[in-house]
Amino acid sequence: MSRSAHPAGPRHADVLPEGHYSAPPADLNALDPKVWAQTVERGEDGVVTVGGIGVTQLAEEYGTPAYVLDEADFRARARAWRTAFGTDADVFYAGKAFLSRAVVRWLNEEGLNLDVCSGGELATALSAGMPADRIAFHGNNKSPEEIERAVHAGVGRIVLDSFQEIVRVAHIAQSLGKRQRVQIRITVGVEAHTHEFIATAHEDQKFGIPLAGGHAAEAVRRALQLDGLELIGIHSHIGSQIFDMSGFEVAAHRVVGLLKDIRDEHGIELPEIDLGGGLGIAYTSDDDPREPHEIAKALTEIVTRECESAKLRTPRISVEPGRAIVGPTAFTLYEVGTVKPLDGLRTYVSVDGGMSDNIRTALYDAEYTVALVSRASDAEPMLVRVVGKHCESGDIVVKDAFLPGDLAPGDLIAVPATGAYCRSMASNYNHVLRPPVVAVREGEARVVVRRETEEDLLRLDVG
Ligand SMILES: *Cc1c(COP(=O)(O)O)cnc(C)c1O
Repeated sequence: MSRSAHPAGPRHADVLPEGHYSAPPADLNALDPKVWAQTVERGEDGVVTVGGIGVTQLAEEYGTPAYVLDEADFRARARAWRTAFGTDADVFYAGKAFLSRAVVRWLNEEGLNLDVCSGGELATALSAGMPADRIAFHGNNKSPEEIERAVHAGVGRIVLDSFQEIVRVAHIAQSLGKRQRVQIRITVGVEAHTHEFIATAHEDQKFGIPLAGGHAAEAVRRALQLDGLELIGIHSHIGSQIFDMSGFEVAAHRVVGLLKDIRDEHGIELPEIDLGGGLGIAYTSDDDPREPHEIAKALTEIVTRECESAKLRTPRISVEPGRAIVGPTAFTLYEVGTVKPLDGLRTYVSVDGGMSDNIRTALYDAEYTVALVSRASDAEPMLVRVVGKHCESGDIVVKDAFLPGDLAPGDLIAVPATGAYCRSMASNYNHVLRPPVVAVREGEARVVVRRETEEDLLRLDVG
Protein backbone atom coordinates (compact mmCIF):
# COMPACT_ATOMS: atom_id res chain seq x y z
CA MET A 1 0.00 0.00 0.00
CA SER A 2 1.40 3.38 -0.88
CA ARG A 3 1.95 5.75 2.00
CA SER A 4 0.21 8.47 0.08
CA ALA A 5 -3.03 6.53 -0.17
CA HIS A 6 -3.35 6.47 3.58
CA PRO A 7 -5.11 7.41 5.81
CA ALA A 8 -7.51 10.00 4.46
CA GLY A 9 -7.24 9.14 0.81
CA PRO A 10 -10.39 8.05 -0.91
CA ARG A 11 -9.29 4.52 -1.51
CA HIS A 12 -6.56 2.04 -1.03
CA ALA A 13 -4.10 1.96 -3.86
CA ASP A 14 -4.85 -1.73 -4.44
CA VAL A 15 -8.60 -1.65 -4.38
CA LEU A 16 -9.53 -0.26 -7.76
CA PRO A 17 -7.78 -1.07 -10.98
CA GLU A 18 -5.55 1.60 -12.47
CA GLY A 19 -7.21 3.94 -14.94
CA HIS A 20 -10.81 3.17 -14.15
CA TYR A 21 -11.54 6.49 -15.80
CA SER A 22 -10.85 4.97 -19.17
CA ALA A 23 -14.34 5.63 -20.54
CA PRO A 24 -15.84 9.10 -20.57
CA PRO A 25 -19.23 9.52 -18.90
CA ALA A 26 -22.23 9.30 -21.19
CA ASP A 27 -23.17 12.94 -20.73
CA LEU A 28 -20.54 15.49 -19.75
CA ASN A 29 -23.20 18.06 -18.94
CA ALA A 30 -24.88 15.83 -16.36
CA LEU A 31 -24.18 16.44 -12.67
CA ASP A 32 -24.27 13.26 -10.59
CA PRO A 33 -26.29 14.08 -7.45
CA LYS A 34 -24.06 11.67 -5.57
CA VAL A 35 -21.08 14.02 -5.77
CA TRP A 36 -22.77 17.43 -6.01
CA ALA A 37 -24.50 19.33 -3.21
CA GLN A 38 -28.25 18.97 -3.22
CA THR A 39 -29.28 22.33 -4.70
CA VAL A 40 -26.75 22.19 -7.54
CA GLU A 41 -28.30 21.94 -10.99
CA ARG A 42 -27.65 23.02 -14.55
CA GLY A 43 -30.05 25.67 -15.80
CA GLU A 44 -31.57 25.78 -19.27
CA ASP A 45 -28.94 28.27 -20.34
CA GLY A 46 -26.28 25.70 -19.42
CA VAL A 47 -25.02 27.64 -16.41
CA VAL A 48 -24.80 25.62 -13.20
CA THR A 49 -26.61 27.11 -10.22
CA VAL A 50 -26.42 26.45 -6.50
CA GLY A 51 -29.09 27.64 -4.11
CA GLY A 52 -30.63 29.30 -7.17
CA ILE A 53 -27.56 31.40 -8.00
CA GLY A 54 -25.53 30.94 -11.16
CA VAL A 55 -21.83 30.21 -10.84
CA THR A 56 -21.08 32.96 -13.36
CA GLN A 57 -22.69 35.47 -11.02
CA LEU A 58 -20.79 34.02 -8.04
CA ALA A 59 -17.50 34.25 -9.93
CA GLU A 60 -18.23 37.84 -10.88
CA GLU A 61 -19.08 38.88 -7.34
CA TYR A 62 -16.60 36.88 -5.33
CA GLY A 63 -13.87 36.00 -7.79
CA THR A 64 -12.19 32.65 -8.33
CA PRO A 65 -11.06 30.34 -6.99
CA ALA A 66 -13.78 30.12 -4.37
CA TYR A 67 -15.26 27.41 -2.23
CA VAL A 68 -19.01 27.53 -2.72
CA LEU A 69 -20.95 25.96 0.12
CA ASP A 70 -24.59 24.91 -0.08
CA GLU A 71 -25.95 25.86 3.32
CA ALA A 72 -29.22 23.97 2.87
CA ASP A 73 -27.23 20.84 2.09
CA PHE A 74 -25.01 21.31 5.13
CA ARG A 75 -27.99 21.74 7.41
CA ALA A 76 -29.79 18.78 5.86
CA ARG A 77 -26.80 16.49 6.39
CA ALA A 78 -26.26 17.70 9.94
CA ARG A 79 -29.94 17.15 10.69
CA ALA A 80 -29.92 13.72 9.07
CA TRP A 81 -27.09 12.62 11.37
CA ARG A 82 -28.78 14.12 14.39
CA THR A 83 -32.11 12.49 13.59
CA ALA A 84 -30.57 9.16 12.70
CA PHE A 85 -28.89 8.81 16.08
CA GLY A 86 -31.81 10.21 18.06
CA THR A 87 -31.73 11.38 21.62
CA ASP A 88 -29.87 8.38 23.04
CA ALA A 89 -26.70 9.29 21.21
CA ASP A 90 -24.57 12.33 20.50
CA VAL A 91 -23.25 13.56 17.18
CA PHE A 92 -20.06 15.58 17.34
CA TYR A 93 -19.13 17.34 14.10
CA ALA A 94 -15.36 17.04 13.61
CA GLY A 95 -14.35 20.67 13.24
CA LYS A 96 -11.06 19.90 11.57
CA ALA A 97 -12.92 19.00 8.36
CA PHE A 98 -13.99 22.63 8.04
CA LEU A 99 -14.67 25.13 10.77
CA SER A 100 -15.93 28.68 10.64
CA ARG A 101 -18.20 30.69 12.87
CA ALA A 102 -21.12 30.32 10.47
CA VAL A 103 -20.68 26.56 10.54
CA VAL A 104 -20.60 26.60 14.34
CA ARG A 105 -23.89 28.51 14.41
CA TRP A 106 -25.52 26.09 11.95
CA LEU A 107 -24.38 23.13 14.04
CA ASN A 108 -25.65 24.75 17.17
CA GLU A 109 -29.03 25.41 15.58
CA GLU A 110 -29.24 21.85 14.27
CA GLY A 111 -28.46 20.37 17.70
CA LEU A 112 -25.04 18.92 16.97
CA ASN A 113 -22.01 18.96 19.22
CA LEU A 114 -18.51 19.86 18.13
CA ASP A 115 -15.06 18.28 18.22
CA VAL A 116 -12.08 20.62 18.29
CA CYS A 117 -8.42 19.73 18.43
CA SER A 118 -6.53 22.97 18.90
CA GLY A 119 -6.75 26.29 20.68
CA GLY A 120 -7.68 27.92 17.38
CA GLU A 121 -10.60 25.59 16.79
CA LEU A 122 -11.71 26.04 20.40
CA ALA A 123 -11.56 29.82 20.03
CA THR A 124 -13.66 29.65 16.85
CA ALA A 125 -16.24 27.43 18.50
CA LEU A 126 -16.56 29.59 21.60
CA SER A 127 -16.62 32.86 19.72
CA ALA A 128 -19.58 31.65 17.66
CA GLY A 129 -21.50 30.69 20.76
CA MET A 130 -21.20 26.92 20.87
CA PRO A 131 -21.98 26.02 24.49
CA ALA A 132 -18.76 24.72 26.03
CA ASP A 133 -20.40 21.63 27.44
CA ARG A 134 -21.16 20.51 23.87
CA ILE A 135 -17.52 20.74 22.85
CA ALA A 136 -15.08 17.83 22.94
CA PHE A 137 -11.37 18.56 22.94
CA HIS A 138 -9.12 16.16 21.03
CA GLY A 139 -5.49 15.94 20.03
CA ASN A 140 -2.38 13.92 20.77
CA ASN A 141 -0.37 16.87 22.04
CA LYS A 142 -2.58 19.51 23.55
CA SER A 143 -0.45 22.18 25.15
CA PRO A 144 -0.89 22.97 28.85
CA GLU A 145 -2.26 26.38 27.80
CA GLU A 146 -4.82 24.73 25.51
CA ILE A 147 -5.84 22.30 28.24
CA GLU A 148 -6.20 25.12 30.71
CA ARG A 149 -8.39 27.14 28.35
CA ALA A 150 -10.54 24.10 27.63
CA VAL A 151 -11.00 23.21 31.29
CA HIS A 152 -11.58 26.82 32.21
CA ALA A 153 -14.19 27.21 29.46
CA GLY A 154 -15.92 24.07 30.75
CA VAL A 155 -15.71 21.81 27.70
CA GLY A 156 -17.93 18.77 27.94
CA ARG A 157 -15.09 16.35 27.54
CA ILE A 158 -11.40 16.14 26.92
CA VAL A 159 -10.25 13.05 25.09
CA LEU A 160 -7.05 11.86 26.74
CA ASP A 161 -4.44 10.56 24.35
CA SER A 162 -1.41 9.58 26.43
CA PHE A 163 -0.25 8.71 29.94
CA GLN A 164 1.36 12.14 30.30
CA GLU A 165 -1.87 13.80 29.34
CA ILE A 166 -3.87 11.93 31.97
CA VAL A 167 -1.69 13.50 34.63
CA ARG A 168 -1.51 16.86 32.89
CA VAL A 169 -5.27 17.30 32.55
CA ALA A 170 -5.90 16.03 36.08
CA HIS A 171 -3.37 18.46 37.45
CA ILE A 172 -4.73 21.45 35.54
CA ALA A 173 -8.33 20.63 36.43
CA GLN A 174 -7.45 20.31 40.07
CA SER A 175 -5.54 23.56 40.10
CA LEU A 176 -8.64 25.25 38.66
CA GLY A 177 -10.77 23.57 41.30
CA LYS A 178 -12.59 21.50 38.71
CA ARG A 179 -13.29 17.90 37.91
CA GLN A 180 -12.98 17.46 34.13
CA ARG A 181 -15.07 14.93 32.25
CA VAL A 182 -12.74 12.85 30.10
CA GLN A 183 -12.66 9.93 27.75
CA ILE A 184 -9.60 7.85 27.03
CA ARG A 185 -8.76 7.35 23.39
CA ILE A 186 -7.56 3.85 22.78
CA THR A 187 -6.25 2.16 19.69
CA VAL A 188 -7.95 -1.14 19.19
CA GLY A 189 -5.75 -2.55 16.47
CA VAL A 190 -8.20 -1.79 13.70
CA GLU A 191 -7.16 0.26 10.74
CA ALA A 192 -10.01 1.08 8.43
CA HIS A 193 -10.16 2.99 5.24
CA THR A 194 -12.33 2.72 2.25
CA HIS A 195 -13.47 -0.76 1.35
CA GLU A 196 -11.45 -2.81 3.75
CA PHE A 197 -9.97 -2.78 7.17
CA ILE A 198 -6.98 -4.36 8.76
CA ALA A 199 -7.16 -5.82 12.26
CA THR A 200 -3.68 -6.05 13.68
CA ALA A 201 -2.34 -7.01 17.06
CA HIS A 202 -0.15 -3.98 17.52
CA GLU A 203 -0.42 -0.33 16.74
CA ASP A 204 2.08 1.83 14.97
CA GLN A 205 0.60 5.33 15.08
CA LYS A 206 0.74 8.42 17.19
CA PHE A 207 -2.86 8.52 18.37
CA GLY A 208 -4.36 6.89 21.40
CA ILE A 209 -3.24 4.35 23.96
CA PRO A 210 -2.95 0.76 22.74
CA LEU A 211 -5.47 -1.73 24.00
CA ALA A 212 -2.91 -4.45 23.42
CA GLY A 213 -0.42 -5.15 26.17
CA GLY A 214 -2.78 -3.89 28.86
CA HIS A 215 -1.88 -0.25 28.23
CA ALA A 216 -5.48 0.97 27.93
CA ALA A 217 -6.46 -0.87 31.11
CA GLU A 218 -3.54 0.78 32.91
CA ALA A 219 -4.61 4.20 31.61
CA VAL A 220 -8.09 3.60 33.01
CA ARG A 221 -6.59 2.60 36.37
CA ARG A 222 -4.60 5.81 36.55
CA ALA A 223 -7.45 8.06 35.40
CA LEU A 224 -9.79 6.57 37.99
CA GLN A 225 -7.32 7.40 40.75
CA LEU A 226 -7.07 11.10 39.94
CA ASP A 227 -9.44 13.52 41.64
CA GLY A 228 -9.28 16.03 38.80
CA LEU A 229 -10.82 13.60 36.33
CA GLU A 230 -14.25 12.10 35.82
CA LEU A 231 -13.81 9.21 33.41
CA ILE A 232 -16.99 8.96 31.35
CA GLY A 233 -16.00 6.63 28.57
CA ILE A 234 -13.71 5.11 26.00
CA HIS A 235 -12.99 6.59 22.59
CA SER A 236 -11.92 4.88 19.39
CA HIS A 237 -11.44 6.38 15.93
CA ILE A 238 -10.38 3.85 13.33
CA GLY A 239 -9.75 5.72 10.10
CA SER A 240 -11.10 7.87 7.30
CA GLN A 241 -13.28 7.63 4.22
CA ILE A 242 -14.66 4.28 5.40
CA PHE A 243 -17.48 2.50 3.55
CA ASP A 244 -17.25 -0.90 5.17
CA MET A 245 -18.83 -1.21 8.63
CA SER A 246 -16.88 -4.30 9.60
CA GLY A 247 -14.00 -2.22 10.97
CA PHE A 248 -16.44 -0.57 13.39
CA GLU A 249 -17.72 -3.99 14.31
CA VAL A 250 -14.30 -5.20 15.39
CA ALA A 251 -13.54 -1.89 17.10
CA ALA A 252 -16.82 -1.94 19.06
CA HIS A 253 -16.17 -5.54 20.05
CA ARG A 254 -12.79 -4.62 21.46
CA VAL A 255 -13.94 -1.42 23.18
CA VAL A 256 -16.82 -3.27 24.83
CA GLY A 257 -14.31 -5.93 25.90
CA LEU A 258 -12.41 -3.21 27.72
CA LEU A 259 -15.62 -1.88 29.32
CA LYS A 260 -16.24 -5.38 30.59
CA ASP A 261 -12.72 -5.66 32.00
CA ILE A 262 -13.22 -2.29 33.70
CA ARG A 263 -16.45 -3.50 35.27
CA ASP A 264 -14.78 -6.71 36.45
CA GLU A 265 -11.78 -4.90 37.90
CA HIS A 266 -13.30 -1.70 39.26
CA GLY A 267 -16.97 -2.52 39.64
CA ILE A 268 -18.07 0.39 37.44
CA GLU A 269 -19.75 0.56 34.06
CA LEU A 270 -18.53 3.54 32.08
CA PRO A 271 -21.54 5.36 30.62
CA GLU A 272 -20.23 6.35 27.20
CA ILE A 273 -18.55 4.95 24.13
CA ASP A 274 -17.34 7.09 21.25
CA LEU A 275 -16.77 5.37 17.92
CA GLY A 276 -15.16 8.34 16.20
CA GLY A 277 -15.75 9.45 12.64
CA GLY A 278 -14.36 8.46 9.29
CA LEU A 279 -17.50 7.69 7.33
CA GLY A 280 -16.93 7.94 3.60
CA ILE A 281 -18.47 10.21 0.99
CA ALA A 282 -18.71 10.03 -2.79
CA TYR A 283 -15.84 11.85 -4.43
CA THR A 284 -16.62 10.19 -7.74
CA SER A 285 -19.62 8.30 -9.09
CA ASP A 286 -17.86 5.03 -8.18
CA ASP A 287 -18.23 5.66 -4.45
CA ASP A 288 -21.32 4.42 -2.63
CA PRO A 289 -21.56 5.93 0.84
CA ARG A 290 -24.20 4.82 3.29
CA GLU A 291 -26.96 7.04 4.56
CA PRO A 292 -26.70 8.29 8.16
CA HIS A 293 -29.72 6.25 9.25
CA GLU A 294 -28.10 3.05 7.97
CA ILE A 295 -24.87 3.90 9.77
CA ALA A 296 -26.73 4.76 12.97
CA LYS A 297 -28.67 1.53 12.83
CA ALA A 298 -25.57 -0.56 12.17
CA LEU A 299 -23.47 1.08 14.90
CA THR A 300 -26.26 0.96 17.48
CA GLU A 301 -26.91 -2.70 16.74
CA ILE A 302 -23.24 -3.58 16.97
CA VAL A 303 -22.78 -1.88 20.34
CA THR A 304 -26.06 -3.22 21.73
CA ARG A 305 -25.25 -6.77 20.67
CA GLU A 306 -21.72 -6.62 22.07
CA CYS A 307 -22.98 -5.22 25.37
CA GLU A 308 -25.70 -7.83 25.66
CA SER A 309 -23.23 -10.63 25.25
CA ALA A 310 -20.90 -8.97 27.78
CA LYS A 311 -23.86 -8.41 30.14
CA LEU A 312 -23.24 -4.68 30.26
CA ARG A 313 -25.72 -1.86 30.18
CA THR A 314 -25.55 -0.32 26.70
CA PRO A 315 -23.54 2.90 27.01
CA ARG A 316 -24.50 6.16 25.34
CA ILE A 317 -22.94 6.21 21.89
CA SER A 318 -21.30 9.17 20.27
CA VAL A 319 -19.97 9.56 16.76
CA GLU A 320 -17.82 12.22 15.13
CA PRO A 321 -18.53 12.67 11.44
CA GLY A 322 -16.63 15.47 9.75
CA ARG A 323 -16.26 14.71 6.07
CA ALA A 324 -19.65 12.99 5.86
CA ILE A 325 -21.38 16.24 6.84
CA VAL A 326 -19.38 18.99 5.17
CA GLY A 327 -17.55 17.15 2.38
CA PRO A 328 -20.37 16.95 -0.16
CA THR A 329 -21.73 20.42 0.62
CA ALA A 330 -19.13 22.46 -1.26
CA PHE A 331 -17.43 22.67 -4.62
CA THR A 332 -14.42 24.68 -5.65
CA LEU A 333 -15.05 27.11 -8.47
CA TYR A 334 -12.04 27.80 -10.69
CA GLU A 335 -11.40 29.75 -13.85
CA VAL A 336 -9.50 28.02 -16.60
CA GLY A 337 -6.28 29.87 -17.43
CA THR A 338 -4.56 27.67 -19.99
CA VAL A 339 -5.40 24.53 -21.93
CA LYS A 340 -2.35 22.56 -23.05
CA PRO A 341 -2.84 19.41 -25.14
CA LEU A 342 0.07 16.95 -24.97
CA ASP A 343 -0.03 14.69 -28.02
CA GLY A 344 -1.05 11.14 -27.24
CA LEU A 345 -1.12 11.78 -23.50
CA ARG A 346 -3.73 14.13 -22.14
CA THR A 347 -4.65 17.77 -21.96
CA TYR A 348 -3.42 19.83 -19.04
CA VAL A 349 -5.97 22.35 -17.83
CA SER A 350 -4.49 24.99 -15.53
CA VAL A 351 -6.72 26.74 -13.03
CA ASP A 352 -6.22 29.78 -10.84
CA GLY A 353 -5.75 27.77 -7.62
CA GLY A 354 -4.28 24.34 -7.01
CA MET A 355 -2.53 22.49 -4.22
CA SER A 356 -2.86 25.55 -1.96
CA ASP A 357 -6.64 25.14 -1.92
CA ASN A 358 -6.77 21.37 -2.33
CA ILE A 359 -3.78 19.43 -1.05
CA ARG A 360 -5.63 16.13 -0.89
CA THR A 361 -4.76 14.98 -4.38
CA ALA A 362 -1.04 15.54 -3.83
CA LEU A 363 -1.10 14.29 -0.25
CA TYR A 364 -3.36 11.26 -0.45
CA ASP A 365 -3.74 10.46 -4.14
CA ALA A 366 -7.33 11.57 -3.67
CA GLU A 367 -9.69 11.34 -6.60
CA TYR A 368 -12.08 14.02 -7.71
CA THR A 369 -14.31 14.77 -10.64
CA VAL A 370 -14.71 18.06 -12.45
CA ALA A 371 -17.30 19.71 -14.65
CA LEU A 372 -17.56 22.67 -16.95
CA VAL A 373 -20.10 24.85 -15.13
CA SER A 374 -20.28 28.22 -16.89
CA ARG A 375 -21.94 26.73 -19.98
CA ALA A 376 -23.09 23.45 -21.43
CA SER A 377 -21.13 21.90 -24.27
CA ASP A 378 -21.76 19.22 -26.88
CA ALA A 379 -18.09 18.94 -27.81
CA GLU A 380 -16.38 15.55 -27.71
CA PRO A 381 -14.88 14.60 -24.36
CA MET A 382 -11.17 15.04 -23.85
CA LEU A 383 -9.05 13.39 -21.17
CA VAL A 384 -7.70 16.09 -18.89
CA ARG A 385 -5.61 16.61 -15.84
CA VAL A 386 -6.62 19.67 -13.88
CA VAL A 387 -3.56 21.35 -12.41
CA GLY A 388 -2.92 24.45 -10.36
CA LYS A 389 -0.64 27.44 -10.71
CA HIS A 390 2.02 26.38 -8.22
CA CYS A 391 5.69 25.72 -8.88
CA GLU A 392 5.43 22.01 -8.38
CA SER A 393 4.70 19.27 -10.87
CA GLY A 394 2.69 17.43 -8.21
CA ASP A 395 0.30 20.38 -8.11
CA ILE A 396 -2.65 18.36 -9.35
CA VAL A 397 -6.27 19.00 -8.46
CA VAL A 398 -7.94 16.27 -10.54
CA LYS A 399 -5.70 13.53 -11.83
CA ASP A 400 -7.86 12.08 -14.58
CA ALA A 401 -11.18 13.35 -15.78
CA PHE A 402 -13.04 14.24 -18.94
CA LEU A 403 -14.04 17.74 -19.95
CA PRO A 404 -15.55 18.96 -23.22
CA GLY A 405 -13.01 19.30 -26.04
CA ASP A 406 -13.91 22.95 -26.65
CA LEU A 407 -12.81 24.00 -23.15
CA ALA A 408 -11.12 27.39 -23.31
CA PRO A 409 -9.48 29.98 -21.10
CA GLY A 410 -12.13 31.93 -19.22
CA ASP A 411 -14.43 28.94 -18.77
CA LEU A 412 -15.43 28.16 -15.21
CA ILE A 413 -14.96 24.62 -13.98
CA ALA A 414 -15.92 23.21 -10.60
CA VAL A 415 -14.60 20.34 -8.52
CA PRO A 416 -17.30 18.87 -6.26
CA ALA A 417 -16.99 17.33 -2.79
CA THR A 418 -14.34 19.77 -1.60
CA GLY A 419 -16.11 20.83 1.59
CA ALA A 420 -13.90 18.76 3.88
CA TYR A 421 -10.14 19.05 4.35
CA CYS A 422 -9.66 21.58 1.55
CA ARG A 423 -10.11 25.04 3.09
CA SER A 424 -9.03 23.62 6.44
CA MET A 425 -5.76 22.34 4.95
CA ALA A 426 -5.23 25.28 2.61
CA SER A 427 -1.82 26.96 2.53
CA ASN A 428 -0.16 30.08 1.21
CA TYR A 429 2.32 28.18 -0.93
CA ASN A 430 3.84 30.53 -3.50
CA HIS A 431 2.16 33.28 -1.51
CA VAL A 432 -1.07 32.41 -3.19
CA LEU A 433 -4.04 33.84 -1.33
CA ARG A 434 -6.45 31.40 0.24
CA PRO A 435 -9.89 31.45 -1.41
CA PRO A 436 -13.07 32.59 0.31
CA VAL A 437 -15.87 30.33 1.42
CA VAL A 438 -19.13 31.60 0.01
CA ALA A 439 -22.30 30.15 1.51
CA VAL A 440 -25.36 30.06 -0.68
CA ARG A 441 -28.91 29.55 0.47
CA GLU A 442 -32.26 30.21 -1.17
CA GLY A 443 -31.02 32.68 -3.73
CA GLU A 444 -28.68 34.51 -1.38
CA ALA A 445 -24.93 34.28 -1.20
CA ARG A 446 -22.69 35.55 1.54
CA VAL A 447 -19.03 35.27 2.35
CA VAL A 448 -18.46 33.27 5.53
CA VAL A 449 -14.67 33.22 5.26
CA ARG A 450 -13.30 36.05 3.16
CA ARG A 451 -10.58 35.76 0.56
CA GLU A 452 -7.10 36.42 1.85
CA THR A 453 -5.46 39.58 0.62
CA GLU A 454 -1.86 40.54 -0.03
CA GLU A 455 -2.29 42.84 2.95
CA ASP A 456 -3.02 39.79 5.12
CA LEU A 457 0.22 38.22 3.92
CA LEU A 458 2.28 41.32 4.47
CA ARG A 459 0.80 41.89 7.91
CA LEU A 460 2.34 38.62 9.11
CA ASP A 461 5.66 39.45 7.49
CA VAL A 462 7.01 42.01 9.91
CA GLY A 463 10.12 42.67 7.90
C1 LIG B 1 -10.52 13.22 11.88
C2 LIG B 1 -11.32 12.74 13.01
C3 LIG B 1 -12.70 12.66 12.89
C4 LIG B 1 -13.45 12.99 11.63
O1 LIG B 1 -13.07 12.20 10.56
P1 LIG B 1 -13.94 12.27 9.19
O2 LIG B 1 -13.21 11.35 8.30
O3 LIG B 1 -13.90 13.68 8.73
O4 LIG B 1 -15.31 11.83 9.55
C5 LIG B 1 -13.43 12.26 13.99
N1 LIG B 1 -12.82 11.94 15.16
C6 LIG B 1 -11.48 12.03 15.30
C7 LIG B 1 -10.88 11.69 16.60
C8 LIG B 1 -10.69 12.42 14.24
O5 LIG B 1 -9.37 12.49 14.39
